Amino acid sequence: MNINGLYEDYRREGIFFVVTGPSGVGKTTLMEKLLGRDEGLSYSVSHTTRKQRPNETDGEDYYFVGEKEFFRIKDDGGFLEWAEIYGDYYGTSRGEIERIRASGLDPFLDIDVQGAEQVRNNSAVDAVFIFIAPPSLKELETRIDNRGAEGSESRKKRLNLARDELTRIPDFDYLIVNQDLEQATDDLESVIRAERIKI
Ligand code: 5GP
Repeated sequence: MNINGLYEDYRREGIFFVVTGPSGVGKTTLMEKLLGRDEGLSYSVSHTTRKQRPNETDGEDYYFVGEKEFFRIKDDGGFLEWAEIYGDYYGTSRGEIERIRASGLDPFLDIDVQGAEQVRNNSAVDAVFIFIAPPSLKELETRIDNRGAEGSESRKKRLNLARDELTRIPDFDYLIVNQDLEQATDDLESVIRAERIKI
């Protein structure tokens, strides 16, 4: 996407797209669909201390690290934001963002609501904040149940947190309701395209 010299001053580069929403809302599926469509985006791979799942690749889904390493990076100021989520730590490293920016792409962050708010409070970052919401809490409950592997305690915790997170919607720039995956992907793509041509 080369814009000739005449309009160079209007071109926005390295816009951060911060996508968040309650756990179980389908953020990851949505994000994967979008990344397949848009070559200007680059997924920001987070660091985490949680255990690697069988279908995950180190360095692609996450950088899987121990707590010692995570806290070393944190104490060195290496994270743009970080959060503790259900006993595990997650963070976006500054190095990852620099790597993406150096390649001329727009960083795309899939992070939790607390993390998104940390980025929002960082005035040095030009970011677009997108909240992905479930059609209803009832629907979110069904999705969490369908994922399985959640004990009733963890299920309850997730739902309570989700309820609380939905109250933060006014802090975001865009709200996408993930009722239909195709429609939600189209909406997300429209946001990204519009933000890129914003003056
Ligand atoms: P999961 O363990 O299911 O992959 O992710 C759990 C939650 O952590 C999701 O809501 C995801 O968006 C969030 N998450 C993943 N990476 C980061 C990160 O770097 N920072 C923050 N704050 N949250 C993250």
